[in-house]
Amino acid sequence: MLTQAPRGTRDVLPADSYRWQYLESKMRLAAAEAGYREVRTPVFEHTELFLRGVGDTTDIVQKEMYTFQDKGDRSITLKPEGTAGAVRCLLEHNLYADALPCKMYYLNAPVFRYEAPQAGRLREHHQFGLECFGAQDASVDAELILLAYNLLRSLGVSNLSVNINSIGCPNCRPKYHAALKAYLADRLDTLCGDCRNRFERNPLRVLDCKVPTCKAAVADAPSMLDYLCDDCRAHFAKLQACLGQTEIPFRIDPRIVRGLDYYTKTVFELITTTKDGSLTVCGGGRYDNLVEQLGGDPLPAVGFGMGLERVLMLLDGEGIEIPRPALYDVFVTYMGDNALKAFSLVQRLRLAGLKADMDHCGRSLKAQFKYAGKTGVRWVATIGDEEAAAGKVKLKNMETREECLVPVAEAAAAVK
Ligand code: ATP
Ligand code: MG
Repeated sequence: MLTQAPRGTRDVLPADSYRWQYLESKMRLAAAEAGYREVRTPVFEHTELFLRGVGDTTDIVQKEMYTFQDKGDRSITLKPEGTAGAVRCLLEHNLYADALPCKMYYLNAPVFRYEAPQAGRLREHHQFGLECFGAQDASVDAELILLAYNLLRSLGVSNLSVNINSIGCPNCRPKYHAALKAYLADRLDTLCGDCRNRFERNPLRVLDCKVPTCKAAVADAPSMLDYLCDDCRAHFAKLQACLGQTEIPFRIDPRIVRGLDYYTKTVFELITTTKDGSLTVCGGGRYDNLVEQLGGDPLPAVGFGMGLERVLMLLDGEGIEIPRPALYDVFVTYMGDNALKAFSLVQRLRLAGLKADMDHCGRSLKAQFKYAGKTGVRWVATIGDEEAAAGKVKLKNMETREECLVPVAEAAAAVK
């Protein structure tokens, strides 16, 4: 128990963290290229924010939140998604008062959901998310879809499908709700228990159910796209026109509704197929009413969340290797009582911007070399009595086996 992390959580080990850092650097770059700047919000928020923001008919709120009373008897919830916190931050700091749109991203934000752990489904996962506030135009929806797609392509992912849909707005959705309910009413006995509840409270959500019998039951369900009002229809057409300006392969999937209540108009998912079925790497959409719902003036918005663990899974699945940085540029070995000289050389090398280290475990020279070899270091510097007396150091290129003697003061430059 003591030496076992809680179920559904995962450590990132020192030897593997370079993979995360690589993703992070690509993500930061992609966001910056489109004018998104980083926002950092707390890991926990008042529970009320998610009840109102995420929606109390969603799986997240009904089953998956990590909620507790703190010592001041406030109800606190660990973030189950990133958008509500971003909206709270926007409102608290009046970010909407600046020139719009207000574009922000979060990176490596921990997200907590009490789900059944399995491949690609953790209880703590991490998201890269973007939110754009204050722009109504579908060109922003398209920009976000392209950003996510191009990012994954730049990482080398090829097996990717981009699915889009429109789920309308409060003007047109009620009519669709009614049509969908009429359709589902005849099939209630084939739906799972959850979906029978959803049927009453939020029938759209039935389309999103992963239970096979429910999937089959909705196969011929009416499509929201046939019920869109003029405004939503034009918006969806503009989205497709924007995407059509690019090479991006996308398809319309009227089954996508997304697991959160706040979406309006555009919803989208980037999906990959694995040997165990399909995996959603990225999901997002427009949420034009959320800011108002959380107490602000009406402000249109659109965003997406991308799971870092799933991106890494995807890269592994496709056999895409991330360049592993060398642990050290130089490893300093020493003989006899030259430990202090070695220590001072290491400091000198580090000040010159090189990754350098030495033995701290009392190893013999032979063992020092063996250890250095294991780290894959390119250069080994050696200080023995002769070198020390001459104020020099012996440099050995571990690949070519060539050696040379250089003054200590020039060691860094020589390695560079
Ligand atoms: P799914 O349909 O797979 O449950 P979701 O619709 O719940 O996904 P979102 O709420 O849109 O997912 O979250 C955005 C992204 O975060 C997902 O596309 C996915 O990459 C990742 N994600 C969501 N839940 C998990 C989880 N439990 N473990 C790992 N990654 C997750
Ligand atoms: Mg989910």
